[in-house]
Amino acid sequence: PSASAGPFTVVLLGDGGVGKSALASIFAGASDSMGSECELYGGEIFEQTITVDGERASVTLLDIWDSQDEDSWSKQRCLQTGDAFIIVYAITDRSSFLHASDLRVQLRREREADRTPIILVGNKSDLVRCREVSVSEARASASVFDCKFIETSAAMQHNVWPLFEGIVRQLRLRRDAR
Ligand code: GDP
Ligand code: MG
Repeated sequence: PSASAGPFTVVLLGDGGVGKSALASIFAGASDSMGSECELYGGEIFEQTITVDGERASVTLLDIWDSQDEDSWSKQRCLQTGDAFIIVYAITDRSSFLHASDLRVQLRREREADRTPIILVGNKSDLVRCREVSVSEARASASVFDCKFIETSAAMQHNVWPLFEGIVRQLRLRRDAR
């Protein structure tokens, strides 16, 4: 593999309980390198080098959203921090999906000038019987905001790596477009 790129900073956003920390711990447990983690702003930060399409990328994943004060300043700072954002909702929780839409509006407003990659993630795809948000609805909503979309199950470890690989690909496209 060629020299590593990045580090890219990726921020997890979304309601409490949707599975952000579960996704982060899968990321942290990757075996192809020595990850490291530490605490930051009351949340957690994970560093990992992953190989995507034969090229190494170093990614810093921030799981700090839920630990920010409701005062808008620290949340706003979060939205200004990342190179890319993963907005998570649970497919079993319609209100988390609606909040995910609000977050995309906020992000696009906060980061007007750049084309920051955003991936909309419908987690808990294993809980099919409790589904409250359909794939087609989520896909349509993602395309309105020019986001990628993927459904994952942290519990079943389904589609979690395609999610992180996808974000690295988007970051590279943006880097190479400069
Ligand atoms: P966070 O508040 O967004 O960080 O959510 P957590 O990662 O703490 O997860 C909240 C709860 O949902 C925990 O009990 C997890 O075990 C559970 N959970 C997370 N991801 C999944 C999933 O993909 N499927 C199922 N069935 N449960 C999940
Ligand atoms: Mg958490």
